[in-house]
Amino acid sequence: MTDPKIHKTYTSIPGFKFGMISPDKLEELAAIARKYEVPMLKVTGAQRISFLGIEPERLKELKAEFNLPDKPPHARNKVHHVQACPGEKWCKFGQQETMAMAEAIDALVLKGPLPYKVKVGISGCRMCCCESWVRDVGLVGGKNGWRFIFGGNAAGKPRIGDIVAENLSTDEAAQLVEKCLNFFIDTAKFKTRSARFMERFGIEELKKGILD
Ligand code: SF4
Repeated sequence: MTDPKIHKTYTSIPGFKFGMISPDKLEELAAIARKYEVPMLKVTGAQRISFLGIEPERLKELKAEFNLPDKPPHARNKVHHVQACPGEKWCKFGQQETMAMAEAIDALVLKGPLPYKVKVGISGCRMCCCESWVRDVGLVGGKNGWRFIFGGNAAGKPRIGDIVAENLSTDEAAQLVEKCLNFFIDTAKFKTRSARFMERFGIEELKKGILD
């Protein structure tokens, strides 16, 4: 039975991306959570932090103090679900710098709204801790650069993505992801996930469309 003292409220906290946080920032967040009597924090699937279960009046006060929007401000021509592992800078197995890659993907401004949700998984080596093979966009670091995978999905009908290109620099990978997502916008029907699109369209047709 649901505990009546638990409120089904939440708010995402801006400024926390790709699951990375400094000890100072974590203490700041903890102080805010204590001040507003937040009973639980959640590291979300998109590697952000949400405050959960806040008493509604306290939630209003918190949103007012930090100028938080009622709903996350989701520009429809951007990618919003970017996960990245610690990568070369922090992990002894890392072969590419994942944070630079994640920032480059996060900065992309596409030509229009995406047909549906696009999740991005960026892994710094072939061990794929960010499950890049089952994300709409997967990027996997290797010693010669990035492997770009498109059309993966881990949901109701899982699909392993297709390799689009390999041995890309960070800039080349970001440019190719942008080109691929713009092609997806032009070609896929509204509300089509990349996995279903790729089952119908096929990797060879995609390559013809986006590789020079
Ligand atoms: S994918 Fe590789 S680099 Fe990233 S956390 Fe896992 S082992 Fe480390």
